[in-house]
Amino acid sequence: MFCHDLHCHSTASDGTLEPAQLVARARAAGVDVLALTDHDTLDGYAEAARAAAEGDMRLIPGVEISVTWNHLTLHVLGLNVDPQCQSLRQGLDGLLAFRDWRAEEIARKLERAGIGGALEGAARYRQGRILSRTHFAHYLVEQGRAPNVREVFRHYLVKGKPGYVAGQWCSLPTALAWILAAGGLPVIAHPARYRLTRSKLARLLGEFREAGGVGLEVVSGSHSRDDTLHMAALSREHRLLASAGSDYHGPHNPWVELGRLRALPAGCQPVWEAPAWPRAA
Ligand code: AMP
Ligand code: MN
Ligand code: MN
Ligand code: MN
Repeated sequence: MFCHDLHCHSTASDGTLEPAQLVARARAAGVDVLALTDHDTLDGYAEAARAAAEGDMRLIPGVEISVTWNHLTLHVLGLNVDPQCQSLRQGLDGLLAFRDWRAEEIARKLERAGIGGALEGAARYRQGRILSRTHFAHYLVEQGRAPNVREVFRHYLVKGKPGYVAGQWCSLPTALAWILAAGGLPVIAHPARYRLTRSKLARLLGEFREAGGVGLEVVSGSHSRDDTLHMAALSREHRLLASAGSDYHGPHNPWVELGRLRALPAGCQPVWEAPAWPRAA
């Protein structure tokens, strides 16, 4: 079966494989079309594209943009964006500036909670420009504060915990404007993960479509079977195209693997069948 995996991360953001390693692993896993979608950066694309040029797996340039919507952080994928687009690149630079400020703020808060050296400690785990909460989590595990990354998030990095700093990312229409300016397809990432009420989710999808959004990530490494069916129904109801991606971050997360995805439920219109989807030459 032809395999699309349209969501994954490299060391350019919070993944642990370098872009070329990621491409090699995806190819070995039988992926036919891979989208690299690092958080708020396109930095990994050039290396991934060089690696992908050696074989016949197709690589799609993408990005996963951090958005603040109703005081919540949401992730919007831009699939098949032009990595050279200036308005997209400038927009992402603004998000990087917020990340840098936030990292200092997280470190200050952790310091007050008795955990020193977090900024330098987290920075030792980053390999690209992006400093993510995941890098802080690795440092806290290293310091013996929790047994694993998941527990660090639970006890330190989420709302109400000592190292939490509220997101101040871009608005939903702004993220969509950047993606559309770059010729990309906007897709809401892992929609079930936000745990929105039915009415809030309907409002989000309405506003998303209004701003030019086209797709919903129906199949995701972080969706249960029920989540998948629920999101498939919503994609049909709201006439959104359905996308599929593992949200792979690296081999340390063995329960999420590149290309290991559920099939799209019946009745979904796949994003890769959209007229705007890039065709093989
Ligand atoms: P950031 O964009 O820097 O706020 O970091 C968000 C990233 O942290 C997500 O993309 C996930 O990779 C990771 N993350 C968020 N929540 C959790 C969690 N509960 N357990 C493990 N990783 C998480
Ligand atoms: Mn991540
Ligand atoms: Mn995400
Ligand atoms: Mn992701």
